[in-house]
Amino acid sequence: MANKFLRKCIGCGAYKKKEELIKITKTNTNEIYINPKSNVYGRSTYICRDENCVNNAFKKMKISKILKQNVSINLKDEIMTILES
Ligand SMILES: [Zn+2]
Repeated sequence: MANKFLRKCIGCGAYKKKEELIKITKTNTNEIYINPKSNVYGRSTYICRDENCVNNAFKKMKISKILKQNVSINLKDEIMTILES
């Protein structure tokens, strides 16, 4: 199921094309970017463009564990804003 063109959503566990997901990247300097430009490198994770998946990703701060950094709850609001746009 997992192939190199697919990324896993941390909310629902489904594998989807990168373009269909929101990318969250933590850089080496511990900055967090949502859908970063291609010149931003770091530890990345992906979430479906779906409110349920975003909620799931922030449940028990799963996303913080994956990025190995405590993320602020504002990040969730920022992601939700992207979903609405
Ligand atoms: Zn999902």
